Amino acid sequence: MAAIRSRDMLPELRVRKWLHCKGYRYRLHKKGLPGKPDIVFGSRRKVIFVHGCFWHQHDKTGCLDGRAPKTRLDYWNNKLRTNVERDERVRLTLIEMGWQVLVVWECETKDIEALGERLLEFLE
Ligand SMILES: [Zn+2]
Repeated sequence: MAAIRSRDMLPELRVRKWLHCKGYRYRLHKKGLPGKPDIVFGSRRKVIFVHGCFWHQHDKTGCLDGRAPKTRLDYWNNKLRTNVERDERVRLTLIEMGWQVLVVWECETKDIEALGERLLEFLE
């Protein structure tokens, strides 16, 4: 479990490092905001979530890491559906509160320069 958790951190670190290099300053995991967003730009009222493809089910665009497991289907379906529903609830609540929300997927952080274009656009 420890191994899984540290691997999950890597995509977030990639994004944070890139932002830092570009001179952006942010807060991390701000308490008091729904879903404790990974990266928070308070004065811009913008937040970024860096989602693991498996845990947050990044399967809609054909991401292979986001595919549901083939075994213990009921267990995983319930667990992963709960995650996805919570993500959506959190996103809508933040938007209602006047925040802009960007979701970055783990697989997208492998090409950080391409992702950087989207980050710049979002933070503009
Ligand atoms: Zn993915």
